[in-house]
Amino acid sequence: MSDNKNKLVSMEDIVSLCKRRGFIFQGSEIYGGLSGTYDYGPLGVQLKRNLIDLWWKMFVEEREDMYGLDAAILMNQKTWVASGHVDTFNDPLIEDIETKQRYRLDHLLEDNGVDSEGMTLEQMANTVKEKDIKSPSGNKLGNAAQFNLMFKTQIGPVDDESSTSYLRPETAQGIFVNFKNVVDTFYPDLPFGIGQVGKAFRNEISPRDFIFRLREMEQMEVEYFVQPSVWEDAFEDWRNTINNFYEVLGLPKSKIVEHEIGDEDRAHYSKRTIDFEYEFPFGRKELMGLAYRTDYDLSKHQEYSGKNLEYRRKDGGEAFVPHVIEPSMGVERLVLAVLHSAYTEDEVNGEKRVYLKLPANIAPVKVAVSPLLKNKPELVEKAREVYKMLKKEIGNVMWDDNGNIGKRYRRQDEIGTPYCVVIDFDTLEGEKEGTVTVRNRDTTEQKRVNIAELAEFTDQN
Ligand code: ATP
Repeated sequence: MSDNKNKLVSMEDIVSLCKRRGFIFQGSEIYGGLSGTYDYGPLGVQLKRNLIDLWWKMFVEEREDMYGLDAAILMNQKTWVASGHVDTFNDPLIEDIETKQRYRLDHLLEDNGVDSEGMTLEQMANTVKEKDIKSPSGNKLGNAAQFNLMFKTQIGPVDDESSTSYLRPETAQGIFVNFKNVVDTFYPDLPFGIGQVGKAFRNEISPRDFIFRLREMEQMEVEYFVQPSVWEDAFEDWRNTINNFYEVLGLPKSKIVEHEIGDEDRAHYSKRTIDFEYEFPFGRKELMGLAYRTDYDLSKHQEYSGKNLEYRRKDGGEAFVPHVIEPSMGVERLVLAVLHSAYTEDEVNGEKRVYLKLPANIAPVKVAVSPLLKNKPELVEKAREVYKMLKKEIGNVMWDDNGNIGKRYRRQDEIGTPYCVVIDFDTLEGEKEGTVTVRNRDTTEQKRVNIAELAEFTDQN
């Protein structure tokens, strides 16, 4: 068996596996799709849930200084004025003057070999003119403009300015507006943080690269409140947690780059930002961000809401607006990175095979159970018994009696199932009675294991 991990895994490999095996489908597919949306199939939803659960465990549950939250997606419109999203949550856009198709200007420049980091809209527009850059359809481009990425919506039956709000473009603001609620109900000592997982929406000008750039996505965010004097320690602490998380997910260190964002490219309120980038098949791109946001957000909400958002120290010291460290992660980009890093091709008995080398704790199916032959009632009956027992003990166990045993192994390999359990005639009688074959996904090695020890074996090996 030779592992061919050096093969360049393409987006085509991943997209086709996701569709073929029921991980991820195009959104609204039977109607021709809806750009920037994807639906998670039975395996995708389980993988995503496992990632979120692990994040919640490592970023919230296991820590003494973290609180959980689940705020509403729809928020009072003043939230988005205060946060600056109404005025500045823009991306630069440019239009093909023939087809009227709109493109994200910085991406178009990047596709034409121009690094637009730090450029103003005007500078980008001038570059298009100077270099005579055309649209992807080969046509002339029109004027550049800023485009606000928030989805506007009307709340309630009256259609006027006062009923306007937005689908939240990030979960973070739900945390800031609940800062006072958490302080008033739990009296936490500083530093402490609030974590939240939830949907966010951005009307991206050109969604692309499968689930990398979406219009509807999910975020896992922490706002960690600190005294300004200790922000550097908290920043380093979260940086370590992020790296530990990636290690547990099996993301190779060699594929992750910490990109320190320079002064000119950082949001004006941020004193330090690191983008964690991953080597995707379409280039090295942002997986998540870690930012020191100073006291900007709470101060803005204090100003716009008129509510006091200062933290009163228990020792009677002076009240102040806490500063914030924010690790902000997109679930879908993580799913994509995890699938990409797990995708492996090797050769077994001279035949090519594809398998997902997922860590067992995030694999959507932990164990698959099969009768060796599906037309032998005595094998099926015993296999059902084992299946039911494991399902109760482990949960994510799949019944698989489709095709011959070789095909079942291939299928389970492709979805990343760490163990396949097969019930054969030896299980029923003879000296191996009460044992089954357990096949390991990565090594393809098979072992006989006692039925009574199966749950423990698949949990520990
Ligand atoms: P980008 O520069 O790639 O548009 P961003 O810097 O605007 O991303 P943030 O506002 O920092 O992203 O959002 C935090 C995280 O949310 C990102 O690191 C990413 O993981 C995720 N995210 C943001 N926008 C999208 C999107 N359109 N589709 C999927 N995930 C996204």
